[in-house]
Amino acid sequence: MTMTEPAEQAKSAEEPTSDKLLEIPERYVPKYLSPSSASSFRECARRWKFRYVDRLPDPPGEAAVTGTFAHMVLEKLMQEPVENRTVDRAKELARELWPKMENHRDFQGLELDERGGLDFRKNGWRAIEGLWDLEDPRQVTVASTEQDVRVEINGVPFRGIIDRVDETDDGLVVTDYKSGKAPSERFSSNYATQMLLYAAALTELEGRKPAKAQLLYLGQKVVEVEITDDNLAEAVDELRSTWLAIMERCISLEFEASTGPLCGWCPFVAQCPEGTEEVLHRDKIGKLRSDAPALERIAQAEKADD
Ligand code: SF4
Repeated sequence: MTMTEPAEQAKSAEEPTSDKLLEIPERYVPKYLSPSSASSFRECARRWKFRYVDRLPDPPGEAAVTGTFAHMVLEKLMQEPVENRTVDRAKELARELWPKMENHRDFQGLELDERGGLDFRKNGWRAIEGLWDLEDPRQVTVASTEQDVRVEINGVPFRGIIDRVDETDDGLVVTDYKSGKAPSERFSSNYATQMLLYAAALTELEGRKPAKAQLLYLGQKVVEVEITDDNLAEAVDELRSTWLAIMERCISLEFEASTGPLCGWCPFVAQCPEGTEEVLHRDKIGKLRSDAPALERIAQAEKADD
């Protein structure tokens, strides 16, 4: 996708009339658009409907739950006075927060045995400790942690949770922790857009544009996202064009399936005839990755129907 496409889409997207908007069934209208919801819609409108309108269960996998644990510990660590932000204090916090994690619905949903639980803790700690590979947390001036931002951006009700905002001599820095593997350049534009939207939301709320945004891939690398008036405007235009496209689909009630390799990982594949067909076809021609869970999901759904 080129950088000019979202702005072009925004220009061509039809603004729904208020009469049309009133026709939308209430359960369809999202109260807010978050970066992940917008990105999910752009990937596949059908998948978005399953997740955000029908609210079909989409339990997070082990990697995502490990990230939740790392976020919990780092949030508390960065709320400590600077001199306490040490590896030892992080270990204490991890121990203190473990019962909360263990009782978390997402963790319980993983159904790990004893060995799996130990591996989970080891991976969680590896992610937490990875912060020190990237920065000295004692040197960070924290303005906020886990800030829940709700603001209208360009007519779109936006909501996002920003892991951390730092105060620096150059201005605010929007910071996001990532515990998964850093994506290649080709797949990193979604995260850059997410950071730009957080920056746009903070600009609205604080009345000043953040100096930069950064993704901290724990234990791996820091990816900086430049913030300029132009790239903020592109991200905001893309958000608006996505919002208008969602409204259009909510009026027409047609949520088209965008089939492709991602169907192999879609949690709703068994409910999607086009996606099921795509997965079976890919499997037949040897183009389905062996680690894709879709075949198992389809088989389980067929078994449940018998
Ligand atoms: S299976 Fe594919 S086409 Fe169907 S909802 Fe999921 S991603 Fe979209």
